[in-house]
Amino acid sequence: MSHGIRPFISELPVVDVHEHHLPEVFLNRDVGLLDLFQQSYAGWAKDRPYPLPSESREEDPMLSDTGEATWEQIAQYVERSASNHFVRNLVRGIDELYGLDGVGINRDNWREIDRQVRERHADPDYPHRVMKQAGVRQVITDCYTDPLLDCKRELAPNYHSVLRINAYGVGNHPARRCHNGNSPFEFARKLDSPCDTFDDFCQLMETSVRTLEDRNQVAIKNALAYDRDIHFDEPDEKLAREAWRNENATDEQLKAFGDFVVDRFCTIAGELDIPMQMHLGTAIIRGSHPLNVAGLIERHPNTRFLLMHLAYPWSTDLLAMAFVYRNIWIDLTWSFLLSPTHFKRALHEAIEILPDETRMMLGGDNWHAEESYATFQLARQLIAEVLQEKLDDGYFSLRDAERLAQRICFRNAEEFFGIGN
Ligand SMILES: [Zn+2]
Repeated sequence: MSHGIRPFISELPVVDVHEHHLPEVFLNRDVGLLDLFQQSYAGWAKDRPYPLPSESREEDPMLSDTGEATWEQIAQYVERSASNHFVRNLVRGIDELYGLDGVGINRDNWREIDRQVRERHADPDYPHRVMKQAGVRQVITDCYTDPLLDCKRELAPNYHSVLRINAYGVGNHPARRCHNGNSPFEFARKLDSPCDTFDDFCQLMETSVRTLEDRNQVAIKNALAYDRDIHFDEPDEKLAREAWRNENATDEQLKAFGDFVVDRFCTIAGELDIPMQMHLGTAIIRGSHPLNVAGLIERHPNTRFLLMHLAYPWSTDLLAMAFVYRNIWIDLTWSFLLSPTHFKRALHEAIEILPDETRMMLGGDNWHAEESYATFQLARQLIAEVLQEKLDDGYFSLRDAERLAQRICFRNAEEFFGIGN
């Protein structure tokens, strides 16, 4: 009897279009079990790492020191938040990688697991071996602690990175930083580009994109949904200029400044044929609906947008947009981690409505290799389940399903980013 499409998908290589592998976290040699939880989406079940407009925060809870771990801290995840899928996913991955035989993490075994995590991470090659075990061939990482970092040099030869533009979008003044703590005035110093006048700033944006290749960067990333609403209106340059170096800029001027920046980056990306990744859904949830970016996408028909996370929870709206606007590609990243149930339904719809097979790609969206491993095991399983259901329904043939699986796992990403072997 045939085992269906699952074995085929288990063996496929992956080109991973989105991670947050930061050298200081991913290659840290002092990592324990509690770090794996805090520096993962399981950590988000406890503490959101971005403040809402009504909140403020001192430091990023994901990157703060965990100190000496206790069972009570571990239990916050594996007992109190045990029903949450981020936690389930990570526990499953740790179980598999550390040979727990399905027992999971409990009061009796956590110290021994913690010891093994520390022992393995002392070897700087360990995270790379785990990624290999996950079948990941190439990685595109969003190193938000240093958006100009050359990750091929700092992480491994199979890495590329993206230029995250949040700092430009909120940095009208040296005192203003994005939620990751970055400022374009610092980028200007690094790139040896002046940043005194508004025109200097426009030139800085252009220089930042024109030098992407020097840093092995392959795309621009707009994650402003974590800093503001994503209603990127038509640029009003006059209003944007009024915000420049103006400490008392009004909300209207600040919004116009961000709108202008995003529009300008989209124009440059279109001219240079550089992909533009964009976070949609959740985040500052009152303003992150995907239809908010429809105007931006319409204004830039020559820019290739890779829209992320199936815009959870508004996946159907996003898919309708991807049918209407043919400059949209879909990054499935994170959606299967948030909710496997939602993802399976949305993937069925995506297969049916997307205009062709070149549109979907995959990523891990994680900090440590253990979570990436777990995430790709999960993605393979869920994609196989959905394609098998489509096969069983007679929607398409095994050959069609296999071709689509290859496209989702690696071929589309290679073509889209131009990083094929
Ligand atoms: Zn991400």
